[in-house]
Amino acid sequence: MIRKYLFIAFVFTFILTIFSNFFTLETLGSFSDGQSHSLSSKTAQTIRNVKSTNYKVPEAVPFVGPKLVVIDPGHGGKDPGALFGSLQEKDIVLDISLRVQNTLKALNIPTYITRSDDRFLELKERINTANQMNAALFVSIHNNSMTNPFASGIMTLYYPSETLASGFLTEKEFALTIQNHLEKSLNIFGHGIIERPNLAVLRYAKMPSLVLELGFLSNSNDRLLLASEEFREKASKSIAEAIQISVMKISVE
Ligand SMILES: [Zn+2]
Repeated sequence: MIRKYLFIAFVFTFILTIFSNFFTLETLGSFSDGQSHSLSSKTAQTIRNVKSTNYKVPEAVPFVGPKLVVIDPGHGGKDPGALFGSLQEKDIVLDISLRVQNTLKALNIPTYITRSDDRFLELKERINTANQMNAALFVSIHNNSMTNPFASGIMTLYYPSETLASGFLTEKEFALTIQNHLEKSLNIFGHGIIERPNLAVLRYAKMPSLVLELGFLSNSNDRLLLASEEFREKASKSIAEAIQISVMKISVE
């Protein structure tokens, strides 16, 4: 009689074990994308072992989606931007921006350019596009101009925000990364990063966004540089490198 009960208890335990394993596998095999994934029994065993030793789940890394970088060549069409003789800011920044986009493509970083020809775009339209595309970073490229012909060099304008970030990359760190890299690699006078809370392209941005003022068209030295294809190529390579460093910082603390 006792042997009979023992046998029933054994069979019951056996069935229970099989069922519990089956449900564990089912739970592990179903991912949040709604797709059914099959795990190898070895992987499932490893996961069960990890679970049984009270494994602490690591802190979630913020998901930023595809790390799309929006490049925005300033001005265009009826708005030439800064002018000096036949040199127009809208042409210079379009040339640099297209080069930046090409380099980023070669680095496998997804990009979108707000204009790839000489057309007019409203400021809000530019940043709205980046917001709608859920871009990770936004860089608007410009040249500066002042009545003082001695003013020269590069500066990065950013929106002062304590909270705006893509993953681990904050707005301010993005500005510092770009400006520091350009100052070092271009060997050009740098004004550092400058807070600009009122610029439309920065104010409405849902992601870290910058206005990069690359040289003064009103300064003879900067003008010579900007008119040279060699400098524009070098500058665009540096901007792309700085963006690549920034993109890496999005997912690494
Ligand atoms: Zn401009």
